This record gives sequence, structure tokens and C-alpha cells, in this order.
Amino acid sequence: MENKNVTDSAERESNICAACEEDAVNTESTPAEKAEEKPVFDKELFKRSILYNVMNMYRKNLEEATPQQIFQAASYSIKDRVIGNWMNTQKAYEKEDPKMVYYMSMEFLMGRALGNNMINLEAYQGAKEVLEELGLDINVIEDQEPDAALGNGGLGRLAACFLDSLATLGYPAYGCGIRYRYGMFKQEIRDGFQVEVPDNWLAEGNPFELRRPEYAKVVKFGGHVSVRCDENGRNHFVQEGYQAVRAIPYDLPIVGYGNGIVNTLRIWDAESMGGFQLDSFDKGDYSKAVEQENLARNLVDVLYPNDNHYAGKELRLKQQYFFISASVQEAVEKYMRKHDDIHRFPEKVTFQLNDTHPTVAIPELMRILLDEYNLGWDEAWDITTRTCAYTNHTIMAEALEKWPIDLFSRLLPRIYQIVEEINRRFVQQIEEKYAHVYNVNVQEKIRKMAILYDGQVKMAHMAIVAGYSVNGVARLHTEILKSEELRDFYEMFPERFNNKTNGITQRRFLLHGNPLLAQWVTEKVGDSWITDLPQISGLKKLADDAEAQKEFMEIKYQNKLRLAKYIKEHNDIEVDPNSIFDVQVKRLHEYKRQLMNILHVMHLYNELKAHPDMEFFPRTFIFGAKAAAGYRNAKLTIKLINTVADVVNNDASIKGKIKVVFIENYNVSNAEIIFAAADVSEQISTASKEASGTGNMKFMLNGAITLGTLDGANVEIVEEVGRENAFIFGLSSNEVIHFENNGGYDPMQIFNTDADIRKVVNQLIDGTYSADKELFRPLYNSLLNTLSTNRADTYFILKDFKSYAEAQKKVEAAYRDRSGWAKSAILNVACSGKFTSDRTIQQYVDEIWHLDKVTLQQNG
Ligand SMILES: *Cc1c(COP(=O)(O)O)cnc(C)c1O
Repeated sequence: MENKNVTDSAERESNICAACEEDAVNTESTPAEKAEEKPVFDKELFKRSILYNVMNMYRKNLEEATPQQIFQAASYSIKDRVIGNWMNTQKAYEKEDPKMVYYMSMEFLMGRALGNNMINLEAYQGAKEVLEELGLDINVIEDQEPDAALGNGGLGRLAACFLDSLATLGYPAYGCGIRYRYGMFKQEIRDGFQVEVPDNWLAEGNPFELRRPEYAKVVKFGGHVSVRCDENGRNHFVQEGYQAVRAIPYDLPIVGYGNGIVNTLRIWDAESMGGFQLDSFDKGDYSKAVEQENLARNLVDVLYPNDNHYAGKELRLKQQYFFISASVQEAVEKYMRKHDDIHRFPEKVTFQLNDTHPTVAIPELMRILLDEYNLGWDEAWDITTRTCAYTNHTIMAEALEKWPIDLFSRLLPRIYQIVEEINRRFVQQIEEKYAHVYNVNVQEKIRKMAILYDGQVKMAHMAIVAGYSVNGVARLHTEILKSEELRDFYEMFPERFNNKTNGITQRRFLLHGNPLLAQWVTEKVGDSWITDLPQISGLKKLADDAEAQKEFMEIKYQNKLRLAKYIKEHNDIEVDPNSIFDVQVKRLHEYKRQLMNILHVMHLYNELKAHPDMEFFPRTFIFGAKAAAGYRNAKLTIKLINTVADVVNNDASIKGKIKVVFIENYNVSNAEIIFAAADVSEQISTASKEASGTGNMKFMLNGAITLGTLDGANVEIVEEVGRENAFIFGLSSNEVIHFENNGGYDPMQIFNTDADIRKVVNQLIDGTYSADKELFRPLYNSLLNTLSTNRADTYFILKDFKSYAEAQKKVEAAYRDRSGWAKSAILNVACSGKFTSDRTIQQYVDEIWHLDKVTLQQNG
């Protein structure tokens, strides 16, 4: 089936090009100028293109078209600008044959494409003006686009930021992922509870995607492996009786900023083989044919909505092997189209595995090399281990991927054989290393390190054993990996371990998301920060300047007004833009401690009720968070936040001094508006639990001040901006780890001695907030543990509460000093240079991937 949009687009382009040829010639610069000048955005061409597209696609004039139709028309116009660069880039890769990174990730949290593509084409201002001339507001048009929410949170957004930086720096790269038909669910709040609504993001079509059936692949599941010995005595392994699925790639353009580079995010859709095509072994097996149809039908339907949590669902493993097998097959085929020696594959290709989810790439590459290229084990292993590198994203036990062997071997019989052999050789290596080492219990080492143990396949172990690089995502995280969770592996392969502190793209999270601040920064230090964020440090010299402080605070105020308007429209709550906007937006997880935040709000409310005339600077506490659909305590915390909001927001006696807002359906596009408006950035995870965090960096870039623990990248943020420009509290990671290694701590002691804490904890179950006193009992129990086998207050909420409340007092005092606050906020922006994903990507390139930049002769 041909994709209708692709054909339309090609027709349209030829028509427009013909119509505009003359203008193009008229505005052509001389060759000498052309080498210097960047191609400017042609507003007239864009205007005519939109009008043409509206007519061609919908048989309408602009006045008749709906905003959605205008969004579609504008997107195709922008896509026309992108296509030429995309072809150029791919041609340059074809010609120069550079080494490529394949960034393998189950998640790409891309958000919207139109605004970002206009930004990176340096066409945003021009497009905005054209739309204005047509009587349209660019924000309204952008709002028509559904987010590509093919990810849960930080891990998926990191992948999206990395693609932006790779294209902007001019590095050859593919993103490889899954084209989920339903992305991350839409969150609705009904009666204070989260309700998950399907996200049918493709309902109106995706204007930027390109279906590429010519690169379709077959992926095989199940069946069994038979061995045939050839005349040379070599064994051949053949998978038989399998079910097959056809993987069809869709390509999305990844536009580099102002450099003409367009890379590709390739996401795979699953289609049935069609016509009941079966392996010859199973011809005539009707029920098998039906099963095969069914396998394809729901394979890529949904993204699993678990963040930092392993669920162990069979369909999830199928998704993993599906997109990995297709991607690895394509990488090998692409390489072999230009080369004849598979042994040199690692010179041209590297696979970066974003967490353990894509780890089957290791045995899949081995399978192709062994079974299809007939290499020996050692040769295949050498190639594989020079190709694959692994990024670790978490140290929490409940997030570690461990597949039951029976499930794994039934679904992937040939892959499992290869894993067995990888494991057998690795166990042998452990024995050789430790057999004669004094004081080392070899069986204990094997128990802790083997890939196969206790009936499970341990994906992280496989990724470390076969990866030439193992990296953590912030300095503290990498150090904890080396000294705690992966200590045995670090001892065995110290040279593999390295740190790559995460980053974010300033193009989306400042230039697009906060145009007022972006413009101000450019006025002060020039626009080089857009591709060289450390240049933003030029703002430091203005931090003490009263005029600059005033301007900065006025921009923050305007952004708070924008968010207040959003809140009024979406929540029907009035918030005071002069109050402190105190924001915690991120996935709902117990380790992130939204519960501590809302307990503190309850405490402040108690204080205000008890002392109505106490000094109190008005605060707006803003939350945004999705909870995994099956995560009871997370969902209850959402209900608690909304319940507290209802009580506090409607209590006239506190005169609006506290407002609590829960923003529904936190996602990338509303995140951009939220970061821009934040005064306080809540980064309050239990120390040692947040591997890096990236939300913390987006807030900093937008001039919010961090209120946080010394966890993840907060440590490095504080190092850059200075401890005096952040509010740090709570246990250190060493203290937390020490408690954990010694049986935890006793929250009852705190509960019994601290009256403020006792009061708020009791309010969870005494009817203050809920007539149903049992509603929040599980949260109460999670803190004090009266029944379960779990330890009490695993996340040290009561332990850190006092220190948190004191830090919050300091926040209030600091905010009263407007000039001092502005200075700190400006310094946060000025010191955010380290946290660009451009820096992160450059480090991956220099220390792991070793890629060369590709440059283009731009021809507009
Ligand atoms: C940046 C981002 C995240 C990650 O936030 P953390 O605070 O680092 O957990 C999650 N979701 C969205 C939409 C984001 O933009």
C-alpha cells in the first residue's frame, strides 16, 4: 500500500517549484555571496505553499480551513523545505561513507515537530510573520499538533535531545525505535483521580513521516532450532516452525540547527506477512496462520507506561526483539551494500543501547554473523563487542530487566542458544580470573555476575559483558555504579566504565519554549549560545546589574502570566503571577517524593490556619506527573495532591496565600511553558535514586532556582552555579546507602517526637482531607509500615522532612529579596552551559563512538 501523503507531497513539490522558479532566480545571490550567506527563509514561497496545500489537500480557501487543516498544510510546506536537505545529507553520507551511530532506544519522547523544525531551519520568525499576515496565530497552529509521545519521561526525552544535538553537530546518526500506534496515554483527572485515555496520535496522519516499504524486514518468533551438519563438518542452525512479522520502517527527519543536516529517526511498524504466508514447514496450518496475523496486529499498539520499573510482560520482549532485529538487519545490509568485509563492520557502525531494553541487539548481531555470514564464534564475538556500547539509567533493583528463561527461550529460541554460549564463556572467564584468588568465593561471583542464573536472563549483565563501553548518566550515578551495584563488573572490566552526564537541547527548551528569555539572552551576549551554550556565561557579568535584574524579572513575570492563563483555561484556577511559582513536574514515582512535597504543603497550610497573621509570601505549588497505570501509591499521590488542592484553594480564610495546581497530562509541549514560568525547581529525590534527571537542567536554563537533594546531576548543577545559588537539603547519597546497607531507619521515632510531622501524617487518615478515612491509608502505611513486609519509609521522606521544610523557609526569605533572587536566577541561566546535550554528544563522540563530522555544501 503506497502512502497517500508521500505521493501528494511529491506532486505538490514539483508544482510549487515550477511556480516559484522565477522568484528563486530573481532573489538568487551571486556565487561569491552564496558561499558566505546562509539561505534565508523565503516568506513569499512559504505563504504560497500554505495556500496551495490547503487548496490541494482540502479543496478549501484559507478562510474555510480549520486550524488542524492549516497545521497540516503548514507542516507539508515546512517538510518541502526539509526534504531537499534530507536528500543532500543522505547523499553526503553515501559519498563520504562515514562511521555511523545507531542510537537504539525503545523510547523517543519527541514532542511536537512543526515548531522545532521551523526553529532549526531558522524559519520560525519568518513563519510566524507569514501566519500573522494570514491572520493566524502561530501558537494556535502549533497547538493543533499532537505530541509524538513515544516515551515515558527522562530516558525517552534524552534520546530526543541526543538526536537534535547529533544533527546540529553534523554527526551521522540514526535513531532506531518503535512506531507505537498509541503513545504515552493521555492523562485526564476525574474527581481527582488519574484516568488513562488512549493517545491516538496518528489519527490525523503524521505530516513529517515517510513510509519506507523498500526497507521492510522479516522478524521471526518462536518455533524451534534444528541443526544441520554440512560436508565440512560445520553446524548450521535453522529456526523452523516460527511465526513471522513484517517490520516496515517510517522515517522522521531530524533537522540540525542552521546547518542543512537532516538525520533520520527510523521507527518500525508491524504488519502481518499477508496472505497467510507461512514458513514452508507450516504450510496448511490454518490456526498457525491466524496466530501469525494476530502477532503482528497488537505488537506495536502501545508503549508500556512504566518508568523506572520492570514489568516482565511477554509482549514487551516481543517489541524489543521486533525493533532490534529489524534495525540490526538493516544496519548490516546497509553496510554490506558498500563493503565486502564484514570484519570491518565496527569501523563504520556503532550501536548505543539506551538502557537494557535494546540488549537483544547483542545476540541478534551474533546470530546474523554466525548463521548468515558463517563466521566463527570468536570472529563474531570480536565484531559484536567492538560494536555495542551500553548506557545504564538506573540503580534501582525494581527496574532491572530479568526475563524468565522459559519465556525468553520459547520466544527467541536461536537467540537464547547464543545467550547460553555467551554466558558459558563468561562464567568460564570468571572461574579463570578468580579460581586461585585468595579470599574470593568463585561460586558467589558467578551467582552475582552470570547472565543466566536462577532461571533468569539478566539483560544488564549481558550488556556489560558484550559492551565495549558502559556509561552512567551523571558523575554521582557512575560512581555509585562502580562502587555499589556494578562493583563486581567494574573490578573485572574497569576500562569499560565511563560517565556521560546527561544534557538537554537549548533549541527546544529555551529558543522555542521561552522566546522572551531567548531574545533577552541574545541581546545581552549574542546568539552563539544557540549552538554553543557555554557562551551563555556572558550573562554572569549582568547578574548584579539592577537594570538587567529588572528585565529578567519582567520576562519571568510574563512567562508566569502565560502559565497562569494556561492554568485558568485548563484547571479553572486563578493563580497569582506575583506568588512564588514552585514547580515539581516529572513522572510520579515514590523515589521522586512528590509525597514529601504535598505533605509539606499540608504542613504550611496547618501553620497558616494556626497563625493567620504569620509572615507568609504567597506560593503557587504546581505539580504535573503521570503515574504508571498499575502503580497504586503513585496514583494515590495524584489523588492526594488534587484533594489537598481542593481544600486549600477553596479556603477563603487563608486569603489565597497558598494555591495548589495539578497540571493534567504533563508532556513535552506543556513542559516548555511550565519551565519558562518556574521560580523554584523541585528536584527532591531520595539521594542516590535519581540517576541524573534532566528536568533539573531545563529549569536551570530557564532561570528557576533548584531546591533539591545532592542527587544525580543536581550535584553538578550546584558545582556549576555555586551552593549559594541553590537550596540544598537532606541526606547525602552516602548516608542513604549506609542506612540501606544496615537495615534502614526507624520512622516511628520521628513520628513520635515531631508534632508537625505527626500532624500531617495523621491527616492522611483522620478525615481532614477525605471523608473516606481509608482512602490514603496505603500512603500512611508506606511511611510508617504497620503491616507489610516492606520496610517503612523506604524513601526517607520523614527523615528528610525537617531539612526540606527549613530549606523551603530559606526559599521564602530569599524570594523577598527581589534583587538577590534575580541575581541567583540569572546566574543559574548563566551557569547552565555544561548541561547542553551538545556537550554530552561531543563526549560520546570523542570517548565512545569516534565519529567524524560531515559538512555539506549548502544549496538552499
Ligand atoms: C525532561 C522531561 C522529563 C524528565 O524529567 P525529570 O525531572 O528529569 O524526571 C520527563 N517528562 C518530560 C515531558 C520532560 O520534558
